[in-house]
Amino acid sequence: MQHFLGIDIGGTNTRLMLMDSEQHFSCYHKVATPSWAQLQDPLAGLQRIISEYLQEQASGVYVEMVMLGLPGILSRDRERVLSLPFIPALDNQPVAALLSAQLGLSVVMDKDVNHLMWWDLNQLPSLPDVAVGLYLGTGLGNSLWLNRAFYHGVHGAAGEIGHIPLAGNLAQCACGKTGCVETLTSGNWLAGWARQYATNTPLAQLFTEHGQHPDLVEFVERLARTIASEMNILDPEYLVLGGGVLAMAGFPIERLETSIRQHLRAPYPALGLTIVTSSVTDETGCRGACMAAQREAKLRATLSFIDNPLNGAILARKKA
Ligand SMILES: [Zn+2]
Repeated sequence: MQHFLGIDIGGTNTRLMLMDSEQHFSCYHKVATPSWAQLQDPLAGLQRIISEYLQEQASGVYVEMVMLGLPGILSRDRERVLSLPFIPALDNQPVAALLSAQLGLSVVMDKDVNHLMWWDLNQLPSLPDVAVGLYLGTGLGNSLWLNRAFYHGVHGAAGEIGHIPLAGNLAQCACGKTGCVETLTSGNWLAGWARQYATNTPLAQLFTEHGQHPDLVEFVERLARTIASEMNILDPEYLVLGGGVLAMAGFPIERLETSIRQHLRAPYPALGLTIVTSSVTDETGCRGACMAAQREAKLRATLSFIDNPLNGAILARKKA
């Protein structure tokens, strides 16, 4: 049976998982990302992680395609990493093609949030035409599903919602700019606030103990304004909200939703928007990557069928 290998690369952990063609998942495995990312040659390190995983966890399994999920900017054709802040050695590298040559397997890649979103889209009653995913973790992840395809932008950098400018914000962003909304609207900001104002509170309890503090109330309101701006531009059928911050105990998800709705233009997108909450677990990123690999393999099979001159003639005859 065909299998698909999904690999979710985060700043802390790299997670691997297999899925068969009937979407049964198995062999979840986690390694610390710095164990390979901080090597002199991180790509060789990643290749070794994958080879060892396949030998130890997937011996005898036929892997049809490997899908990598990366938290950075990829080229529009998803062939090249353009900016991956925590592994700069991979910038401008055709990572998937290089790994493919080394492993002797078909390797493809996409932004990690698109894999979370693909998982979440598949949990809906039917696949919508237009949906937007907002995943708030250490940063502000954004996935755009427009007209039944992921939208990448002309260079691949679409969905960088965390880097829209916020008036009066003088904070320096990791991207090099000043004033990005992400500097004040992310898990990183919450951790910094907690270090300053809630030293005795474990970060996981921040909202249960300090959720009514004006700074945290404004944090949620700022997030709502940012998300509502995008809803007013894109008019999606679904907004998927997820990520580690929203999963924190006591996070006021209902207040966030109410506040988003208060900023929506009537009658639309206000009346047509369904907001769903993602139930993201440790495994969701690589599960979504496995399913994205299966989708990509199907797309390629269809394209190669059409590209085959013999099939082209059959299709042309059918049309005629
Ligand atoms: Zn920025």
